[in-house]
Amino acid sequence: MDRRKFITLLGSGTLGMLLNGCGGGGGGSSSDTSTGTGGTGAVSPTIPTSSASGRVIVVGGGMAGATAAKFLRLWGGSGLDVTLIERDRQYQSNILSNLVLTGQRSMASLAYTHDKLSSVYGVKVVYGNVAEIDPAGKRVHLADNSSLPYDRLILAPGIAFDTLPGLESAGDRIVHAWQAGPQTVTLQQQIAGMNAGGVFVMTIPKTPYRCPPGPYERACMVADYLKTRKAGAKVIVLDANASIAAEPATFETAFNFTHAGVIEYHSGVTINSIDPSTQTLDTSAGLIRGDVLNPIPPQRAGTIVSNTAGLANVNGRWAGVDVRSYESTALAGIHIIGDANGSTQPKAGHIANAEAKVCADAILRILAGGSPDPEPVTNSACYSPITASTASWLTVVFGYDSATGTMKAVPGAAGEASSATRDNYDDMFVWFNNLMGDTFA
Ligand SMILES: Cc1cc2nc3c(=O)[nH]c(=O)nc-3n(C[C@H](O)[C@H](O)[C@H](O)COP(=O)(O)OP(=O)(O)OC[C@H]3O[C@@H](n4cnc5c(N)ncnc54)[C@H](O)[C@@H]3O)c2cc1C
Repeated sequence: MDRRKFITLLGSGTLGMLLNGCGGGGGGSSSDTSTGTGGTGAVSPTIPTSSASGRVIVVGGGMAGATAAKFLRLWGGSGLDVTLIERDRQYQSNILSNLVLTGQRSMASLAYTHDKLSSVYGVKVVYGNVAEIDPAGKRVHLADNSSLPYDRLILAPGIAFDTLPGLESAGDRIVHAWQAGPQTVTLQQQIAGMNAGGVFVMTIPKTPYRCPPGPYERACMVADYLKTRKAGAKVIVLDANASIAAEPATFETAFNFTHAGVIEYHSGVTINSIDPSTQTLDTSAGLIRGDVLNPIPPQRAGTIVSNTAGLANVNGRWAGVDVRSYESTALAGIHIIGDANGSTQPKAGHIANAEAKVCADAILRILAGGSPDPEPVTNSACYSPITASTASWLTVVFGYDSATGTMKAVPGAAGEASSATRDNYDDMFVWFNNLMGDTFA
């Protein structure tokens, strides 16, 4: 199996089936909630390595960056030097972090290291914070004043958050928990500490934001938790979008039937400010008080993208890229993958992993004197838990559209679960373990 075939299979969903056993959302019902490592077995050891040579630096060792570093080394030959720079020694998965809020998963079970990227694949891992990029001199500068040269640079820094007036001064009392970490634990404790009849208020920013179904999934999981433990408690969802932004049929059913009487959903509501002293949100629909407030701020590309002049050229927030290689449309030699770019694909971990492989393949071709694949394909599968034991799923295949220069959903290649089921819930863990194994192991 050559590299192009590998990526095409990934895009068509066939490899997703190989990797995940449930890429199309159907079949299988094995329940595996452990932190698994499988997945890499799908990569054929007969893949020919590239003759590319050069130094590639990857900034950010999350879903996109870890995958890119791994597959550059896997597909690249001995002439390729790959360095991954990441500020945290442990990666905390956002995926499934809504289950931490309900006590169904621990933070430790969602933690990953970069150890195998170095010990198995030969990626040089440097722990540090990249403070500045010098595109002309082709160097990255770290906060500790060291610097490293590159021939090609991949930026995968994820997202940064807008400031919401009142949120910073609230400290730990009001958190968004939209970046898994200490805030996730804080929010879990706040929910557990709610009284009967308590009110949980969450806000959803306008699209595009990280993980389109994620906030609706969170509303469902919190509602499911509260209704069996805190009689009369309520979840109020204030959505800045005109309607549910992802899997509308699934979440309308969840809000109106599964969690009827617990979830109150309001569309088109924007947030102006937060008053931590009265636990009140000032919104376009008036003042709204909650016992627990969970405002999810609007987002933009991770700081290193916005701090590099010219890169954030999509609405001043996201990095414009040529999706055949993920090379910046502004600065040659710099590629941006994952949530930080402004492509037409969703900001999701599965797509970040797929973009990373397209980008790795393109860089290897370029460094070997060739051109990127002119027709890249990616795919995304996403599971959304609806209750403590049921989930829904959605899958989409994207193909390159030369007329618009964008990735477009391939007609007839999308699918959505007809209902939330126990089988889907079990499949979700198989999908997750294989995606994380494909990224970090
Ligand atoms: C609650 C929730 C649920 C989700 N559920 C799903 C799901 O079910 N399915 C799905 O596909 N996606 C899901 N997502 C979305 C998914 O987590 C993101 O889309 C994905 O993590 C994006 O990958 P990334 O590599 O772009 O960013 P990240 O995974 O955030 O990685 C960015 C990395 O870059 C590092 N970094 C940033 N700046 C620097 C710097 N200057 N120097 C060094 N290192 C730096 C960070 O420390 C981080 O490790 C969910 C998100 C949330 C919040």
